[in-house]
Amino acid sequence: MNTAEIQALDSQYVAPTYARAPFVIERGEGVYVYDTDGKRYIDCVAGIAVNALGYGDPDVRAAVADQMARLTHISNLYTSLPQAQLAKMLVERSFADKVFFCNSGAEAMEAAIKFARKWAHVHGQTDKTEFVAFSHAFHGRTMGALALTPRSYYQDAFKPLMPGVSIAEYNDLGSAEALVNERTCAVVVEPLQGEGGVHPAEPVFLQGLRALCTRANALLIFDEVQCGLARTGTLWAHEPYGVTPDLMALAKPLGGGLPMGAALMTQAVADCVAPGDHASTFGANPAICAAAKVVLSKLSAPEFLGHVREMGAFLQQNLAGLQSKHRSIRAVRGRGLIWGIEADRDVAPVIEEGYRQGLITCKAGANVVRLVPPLVIQQAELSEVVAILDRAFGLLED
Ligand SMILES: *Cc1c(COP(=O)(O)O)cnc(C)c1O
Repeated sequence: MNTAEIQALDSQYVAPTYARAPFVIERGEGVYVYDTDGKRYIDCVAGIAVNALGYGDPDVRAAVADQMARLTHISNLYTSLPQAQLAKMLVERSFADKVFFCNSGAEAMEAAIKFARKWAHVHGQTDKTEFVAFSHAFHGRTMGALALTPRSYYQDAFKPLMPGVSIAEYNDLGSAEALVNERTCAVVVEPLQGEGGVHPAEPVFLQGLRALCTRANALLIFDEVQCGLARTGTLWAHEPYGVTPDLMALAKPLGGGLPMGAALMTQAVADCVAPGDHASTFGANPAICAAAKVVLSKLSAPEFLGHVREMGAFLQQNLAGLQSKHRSIRAVRGRGLIWGIEADRDVAPVIEEGYRQGLITCKAGANVVRLVPPLVIQQAELSEVVAILDRAFGLLED
């Protein structure tokens, strides 16, 4: 089948919830993907911050193949060694004491929402059911997570949403202080917002939220689905802030490209959770855990994190160069290997020109080009990315 035939097949049979890119990807290797016409692209979307180890990591492949030869799936009615080992690895590397496993970022957020409600319920606070989230946040598209994702584009057609959510201004501690009260069971925040335009939290903001939650007897939930797991150059995006949450949602890169989400929690939260409160049929099955164990051990190695920081510094410097050269670029924001280039206009032409020149990027809002390459990317490859962006922004301004 040629490219046009594959695209026709897709649009005839797949529900039209996606605006597809104008090519069909057939295979990937390292930081590159190849389309059905044999064209090569350097991939700075990486499955939307999923393919942290790039394409075809041999250790992930071997671990999954080996596990699948023995056992792919069993129900969570039964104990599984790979799952228990993965939970131990996550706990040893984080603030958390216990882990709940599921299949996606939205599901990890749903789990966090339910566990926060259960925590308040167990403490006899039956009217402590509300949440405070933030402008530009993205927490997923299921009904609970959607209620915490305050964009009319995502929400309007699907109301009524989960009630009891109020929205404060991101990076404005005072606006959160004004909304948190005795009915607040949790404050939900991304330490670095991804979809909403690549906005890192200010230290006083994140630290202030921790103090606010402690004072108000509310839980603090970090959504590190996109910014967590080495993306910002530390294993957790919140690490440099010196504060920890009560619950944290993870997903995107965790399963090495296989679907996995996780809600990490403190013992105080875990103490409120009982059999039957929540469950997932596929959550952390042995095959996915085999992948995630390899992913987590690689991403948390100090040399690996050092590489991300080094590449991040190189990219930051080069993007600053682009900004000083192109008048349409208003700001560059990010950390490690998640960057947003904000323009004074719609960046769709930059992304389309990237496609033509063999670079895959995506948007984070209409005016922001987002870069979330595989974390294994090297300096020469980043230089190639910047050179293509330079030409694409040049054309945008013509
Ligand atoms: C992608 C994302 C989600 C949703 O994850 P899905 O796996 O698509 O459900 C939630 N929160 C953040 C911060 C994300 O980037």
